[in-house]
Order: sequence, then C-alpha cells, then structure tokens
Amino acid sequence: MQKTLTSAIDIPEQMQNDWQNMLDILSNVINVPAALIMRIYDNDIKVFSSSSSTENPYIKGATEKLNQGLYCETVIEERQELTVFNALVDPEWRSNPDLKQNMIAYCGLPLYWPDNTPFGTLCILDKKENHFSPTYQKLMKTYQHSIEAQLNTLYQHADLLNRHQELQAEVARTTQHLNEINIKLSNEIDCRRAAEQKVEYHKNHDVNTGFLNPIAIHKHVDSLIKSETKFVLLHIHFANSRKIQQEYGYQAFDSLLIEYRSKLTKITDTSVTGRLGSSDILLIIQTDKEKLPQLCQHLSEIGQANYTANEQSLHLQTYVGAVHSKEGISRSDLLQFAYDTVVKCQSLGKTFTIADVSLPTQSSLSEHKIERYLLEAVRNHDLFLNYQPKVCPVNKKWIGCEALLRWNHPHLGAIANDVLIQLAERNGLIYELGNFALRNAIQQASEWILHSPNFVMAVNISAVQLKDPHFVTHIKQLLSLYQLPSKNLELEVTESGLISDEPLAITTLSQLNNMGISIALDDFGTGYASFQYLKKYPFSSLKIDKSFIANIEQNEDDQNIVCAMINIAKKLQLKVVVEGVENQNQEAFVVKEGIDLIQGYLYSKPISATDFEEGLFNQSSIGTPYFHFV
Ligand code: C2E
Ligand code: CA
Ligand code: CA
Repeated sequence: MQKTLTSAIDIPEQMQNDWQNMLDILSNVINVPAALIMRIYDNDIKVFSSSSSTENPYIKGATEKLNQGLYCETVIEERQELTVFNALVDPEWRSNPDLKQNMIAYCGLPLYWPDNTPFGTLCILDKKENHFSPTYQKLMKTYQHSIEAQLNTLYQHADLLNRHQELQAEVARTTQHLNEINIKLSNEIDCRRAAEQKVEYHKNHDVNTGFLNPIAIHKHVDSLIKSETKFVLLHIHFANSRKIQQEYGYQAFDSLLIEYRSKLTKITDTSVTGRLGSSDILLIIQTDKEKLPQLCQHLSEIGQANYTANEQSLHLQTYVGAVHSKEGISRSDLLQFAYDTVVKCQSLGKTFTIADVSLPTQSSLSEHKIERYLLEAVRNHDLFLNYQPKVCPVNKKWIGCEALLRWNHPHLGAIANDVLIQLAERNGLIYELGNFALRNAIQQASEWILHSPNFVMAVNISAVQLKDPHFVTHIKQLLSLYQLPSKNLELEVTESGLISDEPLAITTLSQLNNMGISIALDDFGTGYASFQYLKKYPFSSLKIDKSFIANIEQNEDDQNIVCAMINIAKKLQLKVVVEGVENQNQEAFVVKEGIDLIQGYLYSKPISATDFEEGLFNQSSIGTPYFHFV
C-alpha cells in the first residue's frame, strides 16, 4: 500500500485554533514575545501558528528558506530539544537569521508525525537572554506531546482515508477487472451456447435443408403418441430426386426441397417436416379427416409447380402416402405403415394414397402374420371374387362387370383389397392371387356368356403380373380351357404397371390386344402423364378414377377435369368408363357428358357370384336388348 504523505495532511481549523490558544498561554506564562509552531516543507519552513503577543514579529504564514542555519532546522535535523540562552555570546548561533528579529534566546522541540517524518517545531523566542527554567521546558514538552498526539490522530485519520481510497480504487480496479472477466465470460458462454445450439440443431436437423432428421422425427412422433394427440403422417417420396441429383447436384435438389417446404408452409401452418433420406420427407400435421384428400392434392400440386435448378425449369414428381395415427399403434408401425402406403401409391401410379386405418393392416398386425394367413387363404381357397356391374348409361342394363377379389378372414374380418394386393405384390403371392382371380373370373364369364353372349368380364391386373414373361400364354391357356372368347375378357391395368417396365408392358399388352382382349386404363387421372400413355398403348377404354366423381357436385375443377378427360378419350376413340357413381346427380352429370359405361354403388356394390347372376338373369329375362356398343 502507498505510504500516507504527511506533507499533504491538512490541519483542521479547530485544531489550529487550539494550537493558537496553546501558544498564547505559553507566551503569557513564560513571558516571551513569541511562541510558534513551525511546519517544515521540502525547501522552506513556515510559521504555522504564532502567539498573538504584541511584540511578536513572526506573522502566521510567513516562510523562511531552509539551509541558512535556522534554530528550528537544527531542532528538526537533530530530532531533539535546542536551547540557546543568548545567541550573541554563542559563537555557533551568532549569525543565525532570527537575530534579524532581535531574537537572541531560543527554546524549541521537534514535532514528528507518527511515521517519523517531521512536522516542524514548537518553539519560544525571546529578545533578551533567557535560561528557560526546567518548569517551562516541561510545559513545552507537555505541549509537544499533546500536539504530536493530535498529529497522530490526524495521521491515523489520513492513513485510514488513504487506505479507504486505495481500497476503493482497488475495488474499482477489481470491479472493472471482474466486469472485463464477466464480459469475456458472457462472450464465452454465448459462444458456447451458440456452439451447443448448433450441436443440438445438428443433432436434430438435416443440416443441408433444415428438415428434422429421423432421430428428431422419432422423438416428435413418440411425444405425440404419448400425449394421445391425433395426427396424420404424410410420407412424401420424390420419384425424380435421383435424376435431379445426378443432373444438377445434391445441393440443387436440397434447395428444391427447401423451396417445396416453403410452399408447403403456405398451405398448412401447423406442420412438422422431417427428412427421411435423400428422396423422402415426412410431414406431421393435425387435420380433420375430411380435409386430408384436399391437402394431399395440394401437396402434389406444389410438387408440380415450377422449380428452377441451373436455370432449368423442372417439377418434383411427388407421391404422398397419408396415414392417421391410431390408438395403441407404435411409432415404428406407424412410420412403416406410412412408408408402405407411399410405396403402394407409387406402384399404383397415384399421386397420393390415404390408407384406411379402420381396417386391419400390417400396422396393427405383424406383416409376417398377415402373409402367413394370406398364404393359407390362397392354398385353402379361402379367397373369392365379387362382381360389380358395369351399366349402360342409356338403359341402365348390366352389360359387364368387374371382378374384385375378396378375402374374408375368420379372425381379421374383411381385409382391404389395396392392402392385400400391395402385400401380395411385395412377397410374390400376387402371382397366385392374380391367377386365382383370372381363372375364376374367366370360368364365371364362360358361364354367363351362355346367357348374355356379349357380356364383358373385367379383371384387374397388377404391375407385377404384367412383367411375367408367361402372362400372355397363361391367359391364352385359360381362355381355351374355359372356352371363353377373347372379346368377353377385359383387363384393367393402372399406369404403375406401365411405368415400371415400359417396353415389356407395350409388348405384352399389344399381344393381348391382338388376341382380341380389351385393355382398360384404370384409375385414370390419378397418376402422372396419363395422356401420354393413351397414345402409346393399345387401350380400348379408360376408367376415370372415382376420386374425381366423389366431389363432382361441388367442385368445379373436378367437373372441368372430367369433361376434359372425356373429350380427349373421345378424340382418341376410346370408350370412357366412370367408376364410383354413388348418386343420381353424379350419374346425371356423367351421362350428360356422354360416357359409355357407368359403375358404382348407385347400381350395385360388388356382390357375390350368386347375387350377381340373379341380377343379370332377371333383367335379361325381361328381354331387354343390351350392348349397342360393347
Ligand atoms: P379398382 O380397380 O379401382 O376397383 C374399384 C374399387 O372401387 C373397388 O374397391 C370397388 O369396391 C370400389 N367401388 C366401386 N364402386 C364404388 C362407389 O360407388 N363408391 C366407392 N367409394 N367405391 C366404389 P375394392 O374392391 O376394395 O378394390 C380396391 C382395389 O384393389 C381395386 O381398385 C384394384 O386396384 C385392387 N384389386 C381388387 N381385386 C383385384 C384383383 O383381382 N387383382 C388385382 N391386381 N387388383 C385387384
Ligand atoms: Ca379396376
Ligand atoms: Ca379404379
């Protein structure tokens, strides 16, 4: 700590007044003209207090230079009392400066601060020789002690002040230092927090696009399941992602995904988006069941919007598989279910598919179990066909039918066909299933044509079946076995069957067509580039998908689409079949547009062979002529 500077210590006024009184008493009692308290500085000495006696020549505040042999300077230097009785006779003092004031006798005592630095002196001076009695000297000493005691107090006070100031300065310094450390620390904490947030972000996001990554999606789905929140999982697959990535780079595709998401947030704001792989994203939303089809439609439409990569305009070919959360379903089952749905959607060539959760599916039962049941059903002939009439729009007669597979499991109940076919396509059972449907439908048709010779039996054919190199031979064998003319058979194929292997599909379908079998393009309007296919393949008819008919009364867009599809089909000289007609308004609309065949619940649901036969034979018994165009 810094030493207290005594020269800077001020003597308070009150103390100065005390000293003044003390000197006055001293000069009176000892009877001398001057009693003084001198204060020494670096180069001079000052009359600090002076008795107020009339003959006192020393004026308070007067100074005298040092180093000229002053009495007081000697007292201070030697740190002891000095008594000069008569300077005039003392060779040592004969020429000291105080003789100018005629002061020939002197008695002085040193005054020291407690740190041993000199304050000055307490002294008395006389114009005549004076031997200063021991009593007076004692009195002087008493005053010396009293003054030094006061100096001590002042010193302690100053020292304390000094310490206090130093301490304050130290505190200020420390505070500033602490502040600096604090700022540094805050910066450090901010940096760390930012780093942690970055790590956390990386832990949960696909860094290139900002989508949630699979871990985060799992967590999110888990929390929704745990809180029993109802939600919809939409698995979106971008079928042309690889092509875009190869042509324009991964980064370009990532940018398209970001753009897709920003378009997506405009149509649904309560969604969570995640990326499952390079070509798939997941959307988690909370929406009403009724609004879901429209949302799925929007999702496809925003994929079809204009995107640019390297100044090239392109589209995202999206397939959407939507599934509702269901009580008791596990996260992995639900995700698998959504995945299966999108796979199915693509294989069916539809833009979106909403899975029917009310029916048992592989999400509620292990896929393995269903497969085993299915295998048993095929082997044990537990499968059967239902038939749904195709009706003449003019006279409403049944002029054909569509064979639809049914599997009524003793424990599981009715299994949705979509699920069944998809499962069978995956595990290869589709060949057995397909053969079963073909064989039974052909056999059935061969009986019904005895009654109605122009009756046309339509059978659904899966994409997988079309790839079978023996498919045409197989059909030939069945037709010949049951003696069914080829004009009585129609095969319904979806675009997906054509997309997967175009050249093979063209060859197979051409061969079948050359045999006289008619080919219908099923689910028309739900896939991509449908119009292109119409010219490429030997179709005789197209079936407008039931999803367009469902909203035709309210939705003007659907009305326009249906009209456009009918016009194009007519230009290409194709027959138009409309499916999913459930009421008379829908019927009135499509009949007015001049379609060739109608199918739907309005006339009959798919029914058993016995029921169908009854319906078919009863109307024929009326003798109504049918098929002016079949
Ligand atoms: P799809 O070929 O489009 O068959 C028409 C579906 O629409 C049938 O469902 C039918 O019951 C239903 N449907 C008919 N009229 C109406 C209506 O007015 N309103 C509504 N809402 N629906 C109607 P289903 O039987 O469940 O068959 C579903 C799909 O399973 C079929 O769609 C077809 O793709 C496939 N499928 C059925 N049987 C076979 C088969 O033997 N082989 C193959 N490969 N696929 C089959
Ligand atoms: Ca069909
Ligand atoms: Ca259809």
